[in-house]
Amino acid sequence: MGITFTLYRLQQVDSRLDRIQQRLEEIAGLLTDQQALTRAQAAFQQSKDADEKAAQRQRRLEDELASVRNKRQANQQRLYSGQVKNPKALQDLQEEAAALERRIGELEDRLLEAMIAREATAAARDEAQNALRVLEARLGGQHAIWLEERSQLEAEANRLQGQRRSLLTQLPADALNAYENLRQRKRGRAVARIDEGACDACGAMLPPSLIQQARQGQAHCSACGRILYAG
Ligand SMILES: [Zn+2]
Repeated sequence: MGITFTLYRLQQVDSRLDRIQQRLEEIAGLLTDQQALTRAQAAFQQSKDADEKAAQRQRRLEDELASVRNKRQANQQRLYSGQVKNPKALQDLQEEAAALERRIGELEDRLLEAMIAREATAAARDEAQNALRVLEARLGGQHAIWLEERSQLEAEANRLQGQRRSLLTQLPADALNAYENLRQRKRGRAVARIDEGACDACGAMLPPSLIQQARQGQAHCSACGRILYAG
């Protein structure tokens, strides 16, 4: 194998490795978003539990208030029925009425607080649910697909690394250095193929003498400076 052909093969391997690396980075980002989805699911569950607790507290206070109001109604009926005549018994009923009144006032205050708290937990739950829906629409069901793609790309990258090592053994150090330098300066692409008389990296038309030179040994594109492969 000529050096230029080996460099061309190396370029193909490296370009593919670059694309794989780029896609693996994209997938890493998507999987990070997936973690955001998991967090959003947990946040929604938490806000739902908190809202359910707040609702239970509100119902308990409503029940208790209803029961104390019933007691007051019974107390008032007895007090104004005219059937209780004993002054001590009447006084007891009046004291009970006052106590029930205080208890009702206290429960009404607590119920109002509970209702305000419930409004906040319901709003937080709705907000968490909306955030979850947005993420689900974007990422739902993709996790396994990305993991599969990642493992395929990693396997391919391993195979390519093997090919790369074998190609490197066929290259003299100065050719490899020139290639790596060009790769750095030319956005990853050091070798261009001649396609219908033009450089397929930059598109410049090449003089026939340069094409001839590329066929015989090493030549560089007169426009972009890349190594030309004439095969
Ligand atoms: Zn060129």
